[in-house]
Amino acid sequence: MALLSAGPSLDSIPVPHDLLTAEQREIRALVRALAEERIAPRAAEIDRTAEFPWDIVELFRENGIFGTLADEVYGGVGSSALATYVSIEEISKACATSGLILAVQALGTLALELAGDEEQKQRFVPRIASGEILSAYALTEPGSGSDAAAMRTEARRDGDVYVLDGAKRFITNAGIAGIYIVFAKTDPSAGHAGISAFAVEPGTPGLEIGRIEPKMGVKGSKTGEVFLNGCRVPAANRLGEEGTGFRLAMRILDRSRPGIAAQALGIAQGATDYAVGYALTRETFGEPIARHQLVAAMLADMETRCEAARGLLYRCGAMIDDGVDGPELTKLSAMTKLVCSDTAMAVTTDAVQVLGGYGFMEEYPVERMMRDAKVTQIYEGTNQIQRLVIARELARARRGG
Ligand SMILES: Cc1cc2nc3c(=O)[nH]c(=O)nc-3n(C[C@H](O)[C@H](O)[C@H](O)COP(=O)(O)OP(=O)(O)OC[C@H]3O[C@@H](n4cnc5c(N)ncnc54)[C@H](O)[C@@H]3O)c2cc1C
Repeated sequence: MALLSAGPSLDSIPVPHDLLTAEQREIRALVRALAEERIAPRAAEIDRTAEFPWDIVELFRENGIFGTLADEVYGGVGSSALATYVSIEEISKACATSGLILAVQALGTLALELAGDEEQKQRFVPRIASGEILSAYALTEPGSGSDAAAMRTEARRDGDVYVLDGAKRFITNAGIAGIYIVFAKTDPSAGHAGISAFAVEPGTPGLEIGRIEPKMGVKGSKTGEVFLNGCRVPAANRLGEEGTGFRLAMRILDRSRPGIAAQALGIAQGATDYAVGYALTRETFGEPIARHQLVAAMLADMETRCEAARGLLYRCGAMIDDGVDGPELTKLSAMTKLVCSDTAMAVTTDAVQVLGGYGFMEEYPVERMMRDAKVTQIYEGTNQIQRLVIARELARARRGG
């Protein structure tokens, strides 16, 4: 079962109709079985108690689920964006909180992969890829979400350390992460060109956790405030050169937004599958509701929207694994997140409708799925911001660069 023991002998020729290699299909089958057998039975309770599911993290550790985030040399099974997205999708079909654990873990490895030096990679990546520590990505602040460059957190150099002062808000894994990727201004007069990135470890003097937010969905995930009060971070923990942090944040998002898209698609497919099963057994007017054409049409549209969204997601993953970077990736990644999350919201709303009054009841999973879907249109850039990104890339391409 363990992904870490997946052998190297598998056929790696892409299968054209779904873009997955034989190895990626095997990973999908393993994760799907794990999600159905071990994660689905926990989903309602995770939602009801809103407690972080450490047992799911342990399950991921035991089965090497974080392994697709890193190459073998750093303790992974070989870094693959597509394999990671497929895993997030399969897990999120059962439980969106659990899918988010893998999606956010990728933010840590991406920061190190894109900007870490060899020493930093050796120090952190094996611990993230094994699941020994969880990652957090601290960009958002009380006064800056969509307009990330308006952040006010500052980092002042003092000999061998940087002194960080500021407040981050809505940070996933606040209080439980073993590494916080923190963005701060080393040159407040330089706008986005004055932002730098740091790896901050818990226990660093001045790193404090504030309020953990009660919220609508993905309730088991911990979202909270992170304060940096004269937080003394070793200069050796700066990721990349001073002033490259904003560019890094955007390059990470190009690769992590499809992870949120995968979470959204999983929620959508999970809701569709449940609604189909329900519609085949619930009878009105003497026949299963799936036979009533208005219900049948809803189910057909739900499945079609999921399949279309999956086409974008898999293509985006394959593009990243092929090493594509820059505007082409930025545009496709934003489109993928936009389509998958809008699909999740529309499809889960329809799933509730297919179940009628039962869909509105906590006893049935589709009301949780509808609540969980909403945040996928908001975090890692709202869908308004995704549309702005796509339009900007269209204009850039028309101008010729
Ligand atoms: C559960 C959860 C987990 C999160 N986890 C993290 C995390 O781990 N790390 C992190 O850094 N952040 C995280 N976030 C923050 C998230 O990324 C931001 O909430 C999001 O980017 C939006 O920022 P905001 O909330 O400040 O909204 P605002 O930026 O204030 O936007 C408010 C509204 O205005 C719209 N809007 C803003 N500007 C424009 C514009 N130019 N044109 C059109 N419309 C616009 C937005 O689309 C939105 O509808 C998380 C958020 C949530 C809810």
